[in-house]
Amino acid sequence: MALPDHIDTSLRFADARSSLTEWGPQLADEYYNATISYFDRLTDEVWIFGVKPDDGPVSFVPGTYASLGLGYWEPRCDDALEADIDDKWAKLVRRSYSVSTPMFTSDDWATVDHGIDDLARCDDLDDIEIYAVLVRPEDDFVPGLTPRLACKDVGDRLFMGRKMAGRYTAADITDPTTPLVFLSTGTGEAPNIAMTIELLRKGHTGPIVSVVTARHWSDLVYVDKNRALERRFANYTYLPIPTREPDVEKRYIQDVVRTDFTPDKLGLELDPANVHVFVCGNPDMIGLPDESGETPVYPEKTGIVEMLVERGFKLDKRRDPGNIHFEEFW
Ligand SMILES: Cc1cc2nc3c(=O)[nH]c(=O)nc-3n(C[C@H](O)[C@H](O)[C@H](O)COP(=O)(O)OP(=O)(O)OC[C@H]3O[C@@H](n4cnc5c(N)ncnc54)[C@H](O)[C@@H]3O)c2cc1C
Repeated sequence: MALPDHIDTSLRFADARSSLTEWGPQLADEYYNATISYFDRLTDEVWIFGVKPDDGPVSFVPGTYASLGLGYWEPRCDDALEADIDDKWAKLVRRSYSVSTPMFTSDDWATVDHGIDDLARCDDLDDIEIYAVLVRPEDDFVPGLTPRLACKDVGDRLFMGRKMAGRYTAADITDPTTPLVFLSTGTGEAPNIAMTIELLRKGHTGPIVSVVTARHWSDLVYVDKNRALERRFANYTYLPIPTREPDVEKRYIQDVVRTDFTPDKLGLELDPANVHVFVCGNPDMIGLPDESGETPVYPEKTGIVEMLVERGFKLDKRRDPGNIHFEEFW
């Protein structure tokens, strides 16, 4: 990308900043190729928003992620600033976002069952939905993108990479009777609901159980839609667990896997012979082993992967398929 000649990137940010009204829009024109089509602030920190690319309809494979970006020159919602901002103020901060889904296409999904045709599609879309959370600065750590996204609204411009990437998809699920388990923390729910909607839309008949944890009920933004999905599909079970609500027992996904996957509780046993598990979000919850030595070394705090491997499940890897599919968000 070529920047206009008169934008002198060797300037210190503090000096360049005074000309922000002049060069900010010029940099944006150079880099940005998409528009925010809606922006729902569910809380100050948790948002669902649409991104509409300039060059026409967009399609994605459920479970994959897109790259979004804003300029380092953009304002932030906090007063933190990157230590090396002088070197990069004219560049983009880019991050990966799993593509989420509005789940239903009708406006009256809460009260009317329009059947399978009402489930959101993943091809030929005007925009994609993103489910994101604000990350706060801490000690020396300065998050790059979300404090800048926090200042944006409908109609604002941003960068979106046109190629979706990732192998966290339901491509291996070719038998529609396969029992499926989706586990996620926070915004890790995004790719899981995208896969669930597409599987149900294509007629998946096997049981699907989704367990989601987040700090508060207000962070669990897809609860009502998931309840509506449960009412429509007898084979779908949704278990949302807030971990910081005073009247709710604090349970982690590991606790649920340990005790609740029985036919009487969640209607499903974790049998490695036929179940596939999809796990997404916080790396501590996932608990991938270090496989650099002869035997895998698991993290001190037991994660889902270790628990499932002990039960006979196998990690899904490139060229070595398994039935534990995972996506770490950091
Ligand atoms: C494949 C992939 C898909 C992703 N999909 C999503 C998504 O759908 N929604 C989303 O909100 N984020 C998602 N992320 C994380 C996202 O890329 C950013 O890291 C995040 O939005 C924070 O960006 P930042 O620049 O503000 O902070 P960064 O500079 O990226 O700071 C990273 C730190 O922020 C914290 N963090 C990052 N992501 C989260 C999160 N989701 N929840 C809580 N804390 C977090 C962690 O402490 C991490 O070490 C995904 C990451 C990957 C690798």
